[in-house]
Amino acid sequence: LVYTSKEDNIYTTYLPPKKELTKAGTHRENATLVVLCRNDDLEDVLSSMQSLEDRFNKRYHYPWLFLNEVPFTNAFKNATGRMTDSKIEFVTLAPEEWELPTSIDLTQLAHTLRVMTENQVIYGGSLSYRLMCRFNSGFFFRVPKLLQYDYYWRVEPGIKFHCDLDYDPFTFMREHDKMYGFVIAIREFPNTIPTLWHHTHEFFRKNPELLARDNSLPFIEDYGMGLDGMYNLCHFWSNFEIANLNFFRSDAYMKYFNYLDSQKGFFYERWGDAPVHSLAAALMLNKSQLHYFEDMGYFHPPWSHCPLDEESHTSGRCLCNRDRSFANNPYSCFEQWHRNMQI
Ligand code: GDP
Ligand code: MN
Repeated sequence: LVYTSKEDNIYTTYLPPKKELTKAGTHRENATLVVLCRNDDLEDVLSSMQSLEDRFNKRYHYPWLFLNEVPFTNAFKNATGRMTDSKIEFVTLAPEEWELPTSIDLTQLAHTLRVMTENQVIYGGSLSYRLMCRFNSGFFFRVPKLLQYDYYWRVEPGIKFHCDLDYDPFTFMREHDKMYGFVIAIREFPNTIPTLWHHTHEFFRKNPELLARDNSLPFIEDYGMGLDGMYNLCHFWSNFEIANLNFFRSDAYMKYFNYLDSQKGFFYERWGDAPVHSLAAALMLNKSQLHYFEDMGYFHPPWSHCPLDEESHTSGRCLCNRDRSFANNPYSCFEQWHRNMQI
């Protein structure tokens, strides 16, 4: 067998026979797969679906939930429906979940977009990207159709899973009291969040009781200075997330989100939902409530995570190049993660 993997051009000339996959349990968790996307993303959505169905969901049958601020077309619904045997639902978001808050000054916004474009800040000139980041920071978990669920798995267009997943990660989350699961930890571009850390520091100074006792400050601060130190920009890459929605719905998280929202940095800067989720998870949860899904092979352009152990490869469970795994990249935050977990 010769197999070419599109994103890294490696060749594997021999594939050992696949292990018999463990049977999916009859019990399904109260969980759903969530995709926020546009009609135009169809092609990349289908490849994400195919990958997750093939590697996991065809045996577990979790429902899919698609979110969009405009209605999905029939073509989109038909094509995605053909990719799964599971229940699939489409939600058009309410205007208040997506639209620009009236408190945002349009002149100042236009100025920000212009300056950030000139400074080549990634997505710096985009209003829709900002609306998306704010939605993912403060609204997705409150979408009425999502309220019935406890857990969610965020799926983006154009991702890929490199490995068979032969257990239910939602069950794992529940049985181990996990609130937030990630695969890749990476540094943020500093020019997208000039004052996010300042405001976060202010928030926890005013609300010290919200700081978890066994928090992950060592993951986000390099010099042992705690909240008074400098944010090292490490965060969980939120295009993949398996999380307990009740964490985001908690008074503590909502208070943090509302505080950040009132500082308007989603618009006058370009705060991403990844650092917002990550700072909240690192500071408001105990370490034991976070989980690194090291065994999940995952690709979101331009980075892959590939499990490093032998077994995952000799068994044929995974097909990816370990040498190119993001953990080996200087921008990765795995050192900080391991340091955090060892303290
Ligand atoms: P990146 O991963 O940071 O490069 O950003 P993406 O372009 O992948 O956007 C993140 C997620 O939000 C993806 O699931 C996109 O499909 C979705 N998304 C981004 N912008 C919009 C938008 O304007 N409308 C909708 N409905 N989804 C969006
Ligand atoms: Mn993406």
